[in-house]
Amino acid sequence: MSDGLQISEIFLSLQGESRTVGCPTVFVRLTGCPLRCRYCDTAYAFTGGTPLTLDAIVDQVKAYGVPHVCVTGGEPLAQPNSLSLLTALCDGGHQVSLETSGALDIAPVDPRVVKVMDIKTPSSGEIHSNRWKNLDHLAPDDQVKFVLCNRDDYLWSSGIVRTHDLARRAEILFSPVHGRLPPRDLAEWILADRLPVRFQIQLHKWLWNDARGR
Ligand code: SF4
Repeated sequence: MSDGLQISEIFLSLQGESRTVGCPTVFVRLTGCPLRCRYCDTAYAFTGGTPLTLDAIVDQVKAYGVPHVCVTGGEPLAQPNSLSLLTALCDGGHQVSLETSGALDIAPVDPRVVKVMDIKTPSSGEIHSNRWKNLDHLAPDDQVKFVLCNRDDYLWSSGIVRTHDLARRAEILFSPVHGRLPPRDLAEWILADRLPVRFQIQLHKWLWNDARGR
């Protein structure tokens, strides 16, 4: 597709994660991801979807009438035209965030976009995919997200936070995998260590139990 993207779904929901948690947000989910995280909850977006032009996507987003837009996946940056989409959404006056795995280069992303970038933990099975150079392209408004399955993930992640002085580069989010790590355990570990991170739970899973399109 020269002028378009393969789209898995576009829908309105409440933002379930990140700094804008709870805000009505239009989600644009792009098809495809080169990673295979063990806890992935959007495997349905690995394939399929519908080809749409940039204009058609922007029009659909605009029709929902809310300022927040989240471009997600899959891995949105796996489709090169995602960069043009992000810019077009910013040009349209939206507050745009990008959810990305951290495996692909974030340097070319429009600086108006808030990047919410994963650092893959050991339990994901994708630790080798972390593109550490991306840390140099984070802006203070960006967010770095660790998804944690157990105590070993926590110890590894807190070590990364300290080693890379991450709190000075961006906001840091620690999120337990729903049904795997009791949220209270993670909350108590963070407090015990006075770790400079924001604890979060995946709101949409508590509200809608991960139903598609929510
Ligand atoms: S990067 Fe995201 S979409 Fe891709 S496999 Fe991992 S959790 Fe799933």
